[in-house]
Amino acid sequence: MIPYGRQSIDESDIAAVDAVLRSDWLTQGPAVEHFEKAVADYVGASHAIALNSATSALHVACAALGVGLTSRVWTVPNTFVASANCARYCGAQVSFVDINAKTYCLDPQDLALRLEAAARRGELPDVLIAVDFTGQPCDYAAIAELKARYGFRLVEDASHAIGGLYRGQRIGALLVADITVFSFHPVKLVTTGEGGMLLTQDAELARRAQSLRSHGLERHPERLEKPDEGAWYYEQQALGWNYRMTDLQAALGASQIRRLDKFLARRRTLAARYDNLLGSLPLQRPWQHPDGLSSFHLYPILLQDAATRRKVFDRLRGDGIWVQVHYIPVHLQPYYRQFGFKPGDFPVAEAYYARTLSLPLYADLSDADQDRVVAALREALA
Ligand SMILES: *Cc1c(COP(=O)(O)O)cnc(C)c1O
Repeated sequence: MIPYGRQSIDESDIAAVDAVLRSDWLTQGPAVEHFEKAVADYVGASHAIALNSATSALHVACAALGVGLTSRVWTVPNTFVASANCARYCGAQVSFVDINAKTYCLDPQDLALRLEAAARRGELPDVLIAVDFTGQPCDYAAIAELKARYGFRLVEDASHAIGGLYRGQRIGALLVADITVFSFHPVKLVTTGEGGMLLTQDAELARRAQSLRSHGLERHPERLEKPDEGAWYYEQQALGWNYRMTDLQAALGASQIRRLDKFLARRRTLAARYDNLLGSLPLQRPWQHPDGLSSFHLYPILLQDAATRRKVFDRLRGDGIWVQVHYIPVHLQPYYRQFGFKPGDFPVAEAYYARTLSLPLYADLSDADQDRVVAALREALA
């Protein structure tokens, strides 16, 4: 079986976790801070906060930005449901912006039109969650202009995009997003089993996120209402959660970060190989950002129509090639339809969904297995 994505674990990763098991701290120890520093240094962010998933990181991002019952949060339909659910956890109203037919990421023109209309109605969004789909950066220059004009805050869901670049800068250190989030699920680029990270250049947002990750507790003497109570003392100053990452996970993460450049190089080589090998087939290959460098979490192809996609999907699965579809438009999920969303609301994302198929792509995929995928695809299309 060839999956669409999977982790790469070597002896150095195993040794890193083993060392934590033999140490004094399984959680809330030094490995978490060490991992946070490794990621912050890698991308060039001032603050990094590890959490038990990217979903938790997105939830904490919304909460730290003050998203609540009267807030409006916008994201794209072409994403995993967590990009929208995080706003619903805070009770906010969620809406969507369509994607661009070429980039498959948020379409700045559609965003501009929707913002103009929302401004007239007095219903501007408080937060926009942009998704770096497949590891390609969104058009952040255009988004920055609209952000300055309309005053929304920006969360960058970079679950696919650790190691990606936009205009020479690492994703996670862009000055456009208030908060960036990475995922460390095993199908993503770097894994901690389950895990995520929140990055920001803003010290106050970092402080809030750190507290919300751990029940809303505060221990810093300068911020306590009663600083002289005693050394045991802490205050719960907000309602937070237990969204902490363990030291076992963090040690694995830090070990994986040391291997990230190799992972990225291999993924980019495999993507270039697909580009060559698929050149003569009746399908559309993924677009490459002229101002960015993708981390290639996914390699989605577009087939001629929905019927062809269904046929190819079933054939490849039958051959033991575990292709996948990214993504079912979030607004068409039964949960979101209850808010009035319906087919036709975001036509570009819907048309993209009808024809897309993600081919296997991960650091340990061998050339021979990739050739097998291409041969099976060629046969399925014959
Ligand atoms: C994987 C993913 C998430 C959720 O990540 P978890 O770490 O599994 O919670 C959120 N957004 C996007 C775009 C993802 O791909």
